[in-house]
Amino acid sequence: MTRTALILVAAGKGARARTTIPKQYEKIGDETLLSLTIKNITKAHDFSEIRVVVSKEDSWIDTVLEAHKLTGVTTTGGASRTESVHNGLKSLANRGIDRVFIHDAARPFVSKQIMADLNAALDVVEGAAPALPIADALKNLDGSPVDRDKLRRVQTPQAFHYEAICGAFSTYAQNRSYADDIAVAHAAGMKLSFTEGDPDNFKVTYPEDFAKAARMIDESYIATGSGFDVHQFDMESVGPLWLCGIPIECGYSLLGHSDADAGLHALTDAILGAMCFGDIGDHFPPTDPQWKGAASDKFLLFAMETLKDRKGSLQHVDITLICEKPKIKPYRDAMRAKISDLCCLPLSRVSVKATTTEKLGFTGRGEGLAAQATATVRFNG
Ligand code: MG
Repeated sequence: MTRTALILVAAGKGARARTTIPKQYEKIGDETLLSLTIKNITKAHDFSEIRVVVSKEDSWIDTVLEAHKLTGVTTTGGASRTESVHNGLKSLANRGIDRVFIHDAARPFVSKQIMADLNAALDVVEGAAPALPIADALKNLDGSPVDRDKLRRVQTPQAFHYEAICGAFSTYAQNRSYADDIAVAHAAGMKLSFTEGDPDNFKVTYPEDFAKAARMIDESYIATGSGFDVHQFDMESVGPLWLCGIPIECGYSLLGHSDADAGLHALTDAILGAMCFGDIGDHFPPTDPQWKGAASDKFLLFAMETLKDRKGSLQHVDITLICEKPKIKPYRDAMRAKISDLCCLPLSRVSVKATTTEKLGFTGRGEGLAAQATATVRFNG
């Protein structure tokens, strides 16, 4: 079986990123740039050995490696990138390595495809690197044209037959610094090829690149849930009729196991729906005596608590009450204020509307009322 090794070059100071600590330890979302790179590249390929080349003064590396359960993988870098890679190569001596992938710690988005293409290339040549064509027109500083078709932007990982690249470094890179490892291989006359690069495999170099990387790992999303509920009028009762958390003194009430507040039930179901977390009946079964006559704000507060646990935040609610009676308009503002209060949502994001069904159907006949609701929720990944 082919034994492949990864050398991650993380000894740089990242001066161009203008960060106070080395840029590979700057956070992107919840994790450091280096951690993100380790996570993605080890997902993209199963390596037999890993080496992380770090500077002598590095005091952050252990925490990062512990999180990935990697031990004994660090090698001390040198004065230049070339020297650092050389140290990494030497640290893999006598480990039976066939192929080595040398990668910048600051390129966090390596794909399986890039790794597969490089591996396929190494079946034919001794060294390969992903490369991208150049879309912009190129000019020399004197204005004369440059043929962009003959140029490529070269990325990492750069992949090599281990013995061949070790030989190239020993002979050609003892006291010389190169821009990358393909350059060393080229100086040694190794047989090379380029595979297809990936624009997402960019190097985090400048401050704006951190923002771009953060956007790429942003897993936040918006969800909309809907809810619907119906309750029959209890004309025997003297009321009040509870709707959207407000008692309406109309001389009758709604029939139900709890206080039968169809408005809050529909809203609760909408929030549960946005979380894909079942419905109100799953969490508060009507067969359970403890919910008999219960105030429905309990159900809504349960949905809001669950939402908070799941890193969701309610953005907007819209409730439509469907009935011929009672008249909703006089209570609408109080309903909005109550929901705003229960959901800790600004009043400007709470809508309560009412409509009739033109005397048609059960609501038209005044047998009961219906409520429907939508809840818009943002989840922060
Ligand atoms: Mg109900």
